[in-house]
Amino acid sequence: MRSSHSSKAALAATIRVVLKHDPRLAERGRVALTNAIREVLEHDPMLADAGNAALAAAIRKTLWPITLPPVASGKAALAAAIRNVPDFPKRGIQFKDITPLLADASLFRQSVDLLIGDHPPCSIDAVVGIDARGFIFAAAAALQLNAGFVPIRKKGKLPYKTHEQSYELEYGANTLAIHTDAIQPGSRVLLIDDLLATGGTAAAAVALLGKLNINLLEISFLIELEFLQGRSKLHGIPVRSLLTY
Ligand code: AMP
Repeated sequence: MRSSHSSKAALAATIRVVLKHDPRLAERGRVALTNAIREVLEHDPMLADAGNAALAAAIRKTLWPITLPPVASGKAALAAAIRNVPDFPKRGIQFKDITPLLADASLFRQSVDLLIGDHPPCSIDAVVGIDARGFIFAAAAALQLNAGFVPIRKKGKLPYKTHEQSYELEYGANTLAIHTDAIQPGSRVLLIDDLLATGGTAAAAVALLGKLNINLLEISFLIELEFLQGRSKLHGIPVRSLLTY
């Protein structure tokens, strides 16, 4: 089956609407969903272009009879899956351990959905993730948005020509890097990291992206430690954070 770029985008957007309506469908399985879509499109390949409502109805009809177990959902469920580890990696730091959230398929998927927000598939050219936990969410978001994934890494890890940006840590300094040709100028970009604390890391990432002359639409974080006021370093760029402490 051949389908144009725009009909694919419309199809992807419709499927997102259907899944948002009942997140348990996503849980149930991509195989059932894929089969349902294939069946509908094979039956009438014009449907994707002609009517999203008809397509959505057909997908619902195919999947609705399946009995689904309830799943935990919402931000409270995400927050409950984050483990506080006191005094890690050093005394006085309350480390937000996201590994229990990542290990739960439904919570991981929900967090990626929420990080993407209202950006429809194909509306973003590149999702940038910050070394290292930012990669996990940014790569998953990139797949979902049909966008490329671009890493911002710690200095010395990227093999080709890089731009570099240093920033202050509580003790000492750190340097982040991006390949000079990582993103085309003018591209629409979403930046994702796991946690906004003092904002030094994110501000350095923003400075690197500035060197590439891209259009940074939004920065999304799973967690924001509001009391550290990291947002103030991000000067007017829209910031989305799912959980605030
Ligand atoms: P900052 O530059 O101060 O905003 O720190 C943000 C970066 O440090 C993020 O990439 C986080 O992964 C990490 N980070 C800072 N504080 C914490 C924390 N309390 N728990 C987990 N990760 C943290």
